[in-house]
Amino acid sequence: MISGDTIDLLAVFGGAPAFTQPLHVGRPNVGARQPFLERVESILDSKRLTNNGPQVQSFERRLEEITGVRHCVAVCNATVGLEILIRGLGLSGEVILPSFTFAATASAIAWVGLRPIFCDIDPATHNLFPGGIEAAISPRTTAILGVHVWGRPCDIDGLRAVARRHSLHLLFDAAHAFGCTYRGRPIGGFGEAEVFSFHATKFANTFEGGAIATNDDDLAARLRRTRNFGLQGADQVVEVGTNGKMSEIAAAMGLTSLDDIDQTVAANRSNYLEYLGALSDIPGISVARHDLSEQCNFQYVVAEVDAPAAGLGRDDLIRVLQAENVLARRYFYPGCHQMDPYRSHSARDQASLPATEWLVQRTVAFPTGPAVSAQDIRTIGRLVALAVRHGPEIQARLAGAE
Ligand SMILES: *Cc1c(COP(=O)(O)O)cnc(C)c1O
Repeated sequence: MISGDTIDLLAVFGGAPAFTQPLHVGRPNVGARQPFLERVESILDSKRLTNNGPQVQSFERRLEEITGVRHCVAVCNATVGLEILIRGLGLSGEVILPSFTFAATASAIAWVGLRPIFCDIDPATHNLFPGGIEAAISPRTTAILGVHVWGRPCDIDGLRAVARRHSLHLLFDAAHAFGCTYRGRPIGGFGEAEVFSFHATKFANTFEGGAIATNDDDLAARLRRTRNFGLQGADQVVEVGTNGKMSEIAAAMGLTSLDDIDQTVAANRSNYLEYLGALSDIPGISVARHDLSEQCNFQYVVAEVDAPAAGLGRDDLIRVLQAENVLARRYFYPGCHQMDPYRSHSARDQASLPATEWLVQRTVAFPTGPAVSAQDIRTIGRLVALAVRHGPEIQARLAGAE
């Protein structure tokens, strides 16, 4: 297809795919094998497999060095980390969050018996819009939970001002934002605490894992107890706890991931810039931009597809790309407020979220990470350009094929 300009050569219409191997969004970065295997040997030799062992402790110290936050409490995943944090802060009633996030943000709130109240985003930043929060506050509201979507920090100053005005707690789901900065300061140190994810699909990973970052000594001590059954010392349970511990092998993977973090970010960054070049002149396609004066992990390359200008919709573009083995995908579709467990909430929860509903129809995440090359991205750019050049024709043929 690449040389010609006819859509019959597109794989979606029976041509050979542009890529023989699929390119994935969120493909795990495995890192250097030898250092990981050496760490595994030392874990096996020591017989210390979990329970806050040396790997977890050094992983936490590395996270604290990188973020400059006093305490990074490693946990088994970010979802449980959020649950532990919500209980650790003593939240109750209702928590305000964006609908445009991964389901885990809302589930963590609901799982501990609180009610998620969804607020709209700023369409320019894809993040929680501080100006929309006041309308959602009720006497039961206790906290605002911001999400740094794509690693682009929330309007933290704006959120902090609303939180102060209404005496609400402020915490962040920073699952996307490890290694990113806001006004030059690392994410991790804002609000009362922030939660990172080190899930396999995140750019730094521990297979499954996460960490809660906070500068509050008392909160950190409480979080450490809660992740370990509420235990203080060997057998004194001082509060309701859970099992949120990270295992030694997970921390070994995390340390290995952190060894390579600069190279991983450099690869992601150059991929992001390559995508900007490859997609920037295509009508109806606009890449979600990063502020290059801040640090970012560039782990997500996301674009908005404006269907009228592009001549075809986001979902049709994804069908075209997936047939070429470019496994681009919708991200945060259809928005948490449209998901079964939350759709049935009261009328106030269902208040329409126009910017969110507009955005969930438009965003597409592209494959990136060290396994994706500049040449791959130029090919993807040519595929997108071809699809847009023939947008209406492709749209009509795909509709006819259904
Ligand atoms: C990945 C992710 C989570 C969940 O992280 P886990 O470590 O898999 O529990 C939460 N929120 C957002 C925004 C995420 O992307």
